[in-house]
Amino acid sequence: MNKGNLIVVSGFSGAGKGTVMNRLISEKEGYALSISATTRGMRPGETDGVSYFFKTREEFENMIKEDAFVEYACYVGNYYGTPKAFVEEKISEGKDVLLEIEIQGALKIKEKFPSAVLIFITTKDAKTLKDRLTGRGTETEDVIEKRLNRAAEEAKGVEAYDYIVVNDILEDCVETVDRIIKSEHNRTSEKISVIEDIRKELSKHTV
Ligand code: 5GP
Repeated sequence: MNKGNLIVVSGFSGAGKGTVMNRLISEKEGYALSISATTRGMRPGETDGVSYFFKTREEFENMIKEDAFVEYACYVGNYYGTPKAFVEEKISEGKDVLLEIEIQGALKIKEKFPSAVLIFITTKDAKTLKDRLTGRGTETEDVIEKRLNRAAEEAKGVEAYDYIVVNDILEDCVETVDRIIKSEHNRTSEKISVIEDIRKELSKHTV
């Protein structure tokens, strides 16, 4: 069986990357969603083991010592990490594993797994992003300012990504991301064994 791939999805908060990933998982074949561990507190509406595995700092640091993470990073004062066991199991089952992680983690993944695919999801322009971040009209100016600054930070290092996909019409974005991920399986490095088998067979014939 062909092995699955690691797929990193990052993007501006407000660009809809979570929705795109949920659509891939529920509507398309061959995906698994990695659930990260974090030391940040649980927010209303979140469930342990679904949104994240919520850990104490001590638990998280023990996991680091046990080499239990594919990657981990410190982000705004908290640890976030991708547990290794789930990722390895799903990849060996041939699933493409989706990781929704920030940029430091994405770069570590690319370094360790050169075949990983890094996809950045964005709105079509700054105005749309601003409208989405300020949308509900209930936030204070200070909160809005923080969100806009964070959005600018989130784009730092985007040049290292393999693909940038604009999420203007959700359906189109999901189709595009799915096609990108599926077509990575046709890379020469992944498909070379097909040709090697054919060569071997052909070499048995002299005419
Ligand atoms: P939040 O606290 O808003 O859920 O997430 C903060 C940031 O951490 C987001 O950019 C999210 O993509 C990132 N993140 C979530 N899980 C992981 C992980 O396992 N590793 C890394 N490096 N970043 C993560």
